[in-house]
Amino acid sequence: MSGMFSPRTGWKAARKQIPGLVLADGEKSVKSYCGEFAFTSGGFASMKAWRFYAFGDMRLDEVPDPDVKPGWAVCKVRRVQPSITDVQRSLGIGTINSALLREMLEKHAPVQLLGHEMSAEVVEVGDGVEHLKPGDRVCTSGHVPCLACSFCREGREMYCVDKLHVGINTPGAFAEYISLPAHGLVRPPQTLDDSSIACLQPLSSTVAAMRDAKVQPGETVAITGQGVMGLYALQAARTCGAGAVYVSDVKDEALALSRKFGADEVIDARADDPVERVMGIMEGRGVDLVFECAGGNADQGLSGHTTLHQATRMVRIGGRVIQIAGLIGDVKFDPVFMRAQGVQWVFPEGHGADTVALGGKWVASGRIDVNSLITHEEHGIENLPRVMEITDKKAEYRATNPCQLVLA
Ligand SMILES: [Zn+2]
Ligand SMILES: [Zn+2]
Repeated sequence: MSGMFSPRTGWKAARKQIPGLVLADGEKSVKSYCGEFAFTSGGFASMKAWRFYAFGDMRLDEVPDPDVKPGWAVCKVRRVQPSITDVQRSLGIGTINSALLREMLEKHAPVQLLGHEMSAEVVEVGDGVEHLKPGDRVCTSGHVPCLACSFCREGREMYCVDKLHVGINTPGAFAEYISLPAHGLVRPPQTLDDSSIACLQPLSSTVAAMRDAKVQPGETVAITGQGVMGLYALQAARTCGAGAVYVSDVKDEALALSRKFGADEVIDARADDPVERVMGIMEGRGVDLVFECAGGNADQGLSGHTTLHQATRMVRIGGRVIQIAGLIGDVKFDPVFMRAQGVQWVFPEGHGADTVALGGKWVASGRIDVNSLITHEEHGIENLPRVMEITDKKAEYRATNPCQLVLA
């Protein structure tokens, strides 16, 4: 319990202590931005965690173990992978939640940041936690709704105005231990291995995209881009009953995986125009749905806005273009064309514990293979910088999935 003077028990008993950390007379705990750390009779138990001193300046420090609070659970991190967005954020490149991250750094540096794609083992649960117990392997949806704001009370937690963002305004999994509200943790089928569990958070946004796309049995689907999101979308669309799935990419490794996962047509966009090929197959009608999974920063090898424009031209009149890739910059559309075609450009509503759990079931039942995408892993928490480097330069290292860091 936070702030209590208590003997060291359980998993903490075996933990190291921070040497030389001295408290003022009578002080029983220290406060940090992420809560209060108890001063136990043996001193502080400590763990290794990566902390940011500035963008691009990440150091492996000894910090107090996280405390267990009512409604929260402490977990031992077993495997973690940085998302591409994490790598961009670590370098200060503007992306989603950048402003919040900058504020955390300005106010609290050195501060534990990033790391939300993990497999972890519960070691202790706080009062009132019923769905988890020590030994359970878990992951997180990446953000934890407050359950109190008007959106949360309407059951639309994805719009929560007071979320905890794991690795942004609450410490993430680039550490030996992590503490999170239990309702932000998902216990997937326990038959899954750690490498798969660490992929369930990114998979969950593809699951959410399928839900918001309202894929109907037999519908024709095109997917621009066969990176991780595109390969997940291919498998998920087939799981949801798509009648045919046509995919395009510009990398040999990606196209080989598309074939492995059963794409009905694999288009090498270096050699062929995906719009012509898809319209040819569809005899000029266009597909019902396009998942746009390739757009983004052209400087990082993504397609910019090119594949979005391809998507609007290969979708049928009144069809849906689902924007999975994270676009940047101002997009130019011809509104006359868009209206005449009745193109619906849809941004998925976002994922949560429900889509993480469903993705876990799909992986456990063999409908979706996430492990075949994992090409690189490193062992030991000290090797996070190399993991970030490989993930940042995936093309150079011929990596598909982000590199995973193995801690247990
Ligand atoms: Zn809320
Ligand atoms: Zn993620």
